[in-house]
Amino acid sequence: MADKRDYYEVLGVSKTATQEEIKKAYRKLAVQNHPDKNPGDKAAEERFKEATEAYEVLGDEKKRQAYDQYGFAGVDGQSGGYSRAYSDFSDLFSGGGFSSIFGDLFGSSFGGSARGGFGGGGYNQPRTGQSIRVNTEITLEQADADFKKEVTYHHEVACPSCNGSGSKKGVNARKTCQTCGGAGQIRQSSGFFSMARTCPTCGGTGYVIDDPCDVCHGSGTVRKNQTLRVTIPAGVEDGQDIVIGGMGNAGPNGLPPGDLYLRVNIRPHKYFIRQNEDLFVQIPISFTQAALGLDIEVKNLVGQTIKVSIPAGIQNGGIIRVKGQGLPKYKSGSSRGNMYIKVQIETPKHLGIKGKQLMKSLSEALGENTSPNPVRFEED
Ligand SMILES: [Zn+2]
Ligand SMILES: [Zn+2]
Repeated sequence: MADKRDYYEVLGVSKTATQEEIKKAYRKLAVQNHPDKNPGDKAAEERFKEATEAYEVLGDEKKRQAYDQYGFAGVDGQSGGYSRAYSDFSDLFSGGGFSSIFGDLFGSSFGGSARGGFGGGGYNQPRTGQSIRVNTEITLEQADADFKKEVTYHHEVACPSCNGSGSKKGVNARKTCQTCGGAGQIRQSSGFFSMARTCPTCGGTGYVIDDPCDVCHGSGTVRKNQTLRVTIPAGVEDGQDIVIGGMGNAGPNGLPPGDLYLRVNIRPHKYFIRQNEDLFVQIPISFTQAALGLDIEVKNLVGQTIKVSIPAGIQNGGIIRVKGQGLPKYKSGSSRGNMYIKVQIETPKHLGIKGKQLMKSLSEALGENTSPNPVRFEED
């Protein structure tokens, strides 16, 4: 494989570009080099794929951060897999993943996903609308139990004026597309193999509408504001998708809708750090407490008080495991992870006269050197 160009260079944006600038730059490149606009142009197709790969990384804050820090190695297997998976046109235009990536960028212009792959007839026209992705944020506390979250987003629904047919006169006013003969796809020969791609005339539906509906202008769908109450299961991971079937975009001309992918982002917690279903927290204790041991009360993630015994003689950085006080395991009933308390031993800064005397006595009892002079290493 040839050397890859820097993603910022590919999109022609600076390293400090905002998400909006990145999106804009990508949209421009994608429209210019889109295979539908440049049939048979291999170079344009390469530029389209290159820009798409760059956008997939730079358009995602987490992946962008990894790329900024580690270069291609930081995002390997995330973006590389993408360009391999979409190595030919038919994949490019039929994959559900593709349309969900482009959902917010292009609206319905990319057609839908063909669930079930190639049909018996050997063509691959969209059978559902686009799946779309919506982000939502919850707190770590909210991941402790099933959480009901209201999510508002926009999606395409069947046009109420024409019942999704796209035509003033209903479904019967459709005419078979002359370009593809109703198949929704056309085949192009390129050397010794041929590729199928979505018909540019009918957009993959296989028919054209002479007298389009005034409300939806023939698309059969209109944009709608939608509010859903979604149950986010306990133990959800940061960045996980909750898939809600059929709540994506309605397909053009009455095709069934795609799915909604609700991406759950978890806000970092002030005290707890999460690793899978385990929680880590650090607590400060004094060195006398560490030496003598003590019982403490700590709050777990949901604010319940739990008693923890810190054993005498614990060292700085010592970890105490509290069983079952972590997060619930995702979709596993009542099973929970553990809480790990890391002890941070603090040295007193202001002892006072009495404290100093006691400390000196303690030091002597321990047989330590209490001389105020620097410690010398004498040879004998
Ligand atoms: Zn309509
Ligand atoms: Zn056609």
